[in-house]
Amino acid sequence: MQGGRDKKIRHFYPWVQRGEIASVQGNPTPGALIHLLDSGGEFLGIGLYNPQSRFPVRVLTLQDELIDSAFFASRFRNALAIRERWARDTNAYRLLFSEADQVSGLIIDRYDRHLTVQVRALGMERLKPVWLPALLETLDPLSVWERSDMEGRREEGLPPHTEALFGDPPEDAPIIESGLQFLAPTRSGLKTGFYLDQRENRRLLAAQVLPGETVLDMFCYTGAFALYAARAGANVLGVDIVPDHVERAAAHAGMNGLEAQFEYANAFEWLAEPRDTLYDWILLDPPAIAKERKQRDSLKWAVWKLAYLSLPVLKPGGRLVVSACSYQFPLNELIETVRMAASDRETLLYLDQVTFQPPDHPALTQFPESLYLKTGWFRKG
Ligand code: SAH
Repeated sequence: MQGGRDKKIRHFYPWVQRGEIASVQGNPTPGALIHLLDSGGEFLGIGLYNPQSRFPVRVLTLQDELIDSAFFASRFRNALAIRERWARDTNAYRLLFSEADQVSGLIIDRYDRHLTVQVRALGMERLKPVWLPALLETLDPLSVWERSDMEGRREEGLPPHTEALFGDPPEDAPIIESGLQFLAPTRSGLKTGFYLDQRENRRLLAAQVLPGETVLDMFCYTGAFALYAARAGANVLGVDIVPDHVERAAAHAGMNGLEAQFEYANAFEWLAEPRDTLYDWILLDPPAIAKERKQRDSLKWAVWKLAYLSLPVLKPGGRLVVSACSYQFPLNELIETVRMAASDRETLLYLDQVTFQPPDHPALTQFPESLYLKTGWFRKG
């Protein structure tokens, strides 16, 4: 590596950029495991090599060790122990979060005994025969479904790809979160089927909402937020633009014996129409349209507009809960954008609380990119 650039690797940052590589020795094939050396030629770590990637080296370990099935089994066991301690009262969680769990390029979500994996790096693709047996041995799953259908893989020279890696992955995986039942569409749904990363926010909502309060779950998807609130005794309405999502959310209400309304509409149009009912809670969880920096302005605009349209529909003293699930849209910007909407509405707005993704989606301080989900719990004055 270039002199001075090795320090960040020693300090656990896992990505090496092209300009940070002083020279490549030997002729490693794309996807190979390589030894990373510092500017003095000393061992720095072992990583995955892909000259085509924006990050030609992704570090797997700072130890000089063998990257074999035992290595992956150990990583999986560590990850599992953290989830067993911190992802309680659910049988669905993120088991492995790529760099934040020291396995760059691999994401594994657990839906009870069915696993969904996403491979984001060429080297991790090549190592499938090494990590897959370790995963089967550590987790003893009924099925493993590979859902590497992200466009981002093209940057790594990998086409989007889906495949059953083991067993017979179901279309919908039944899960129980906080005692509520859901059918997670693991094969075709958003993300890997369920918004596992919103679990603690749903619990916080359930802990704070009062019986009889009105809750608008905008962008409701599977209706998960809405159903937590319904179980707490609130009158809920979930809105989503995709008819299938609305149907699934309504089916979830039925499965759990809960009363909840779901409607199919475009959030921007729905909020712009005059409304009779005012809400005690409006939840805004728009999709991650800012995966890249250049899209940041469009997410900012969307958040401003949604907050601007929501404020008149919110009761005085009501809560506006705004999530942004993109690293490119940081917390200060989320707060500032919602503040601008409140100022444009000449409305007092408090920020009561801020929450982040739960520990099964670990946010590694030394890898800032891993902190992606933030939620502001605002209150209208
Ligand atoms: N809060 C959800 C996840 C939301 S995902 C949960 O915890 O499970 C984002 C959802 O927004 C998707 O279901 C998508 O169909 C919906 N969506 C996208 N654009 C929309 C729009 N303009 N209006 C309403 N819903 C929209």
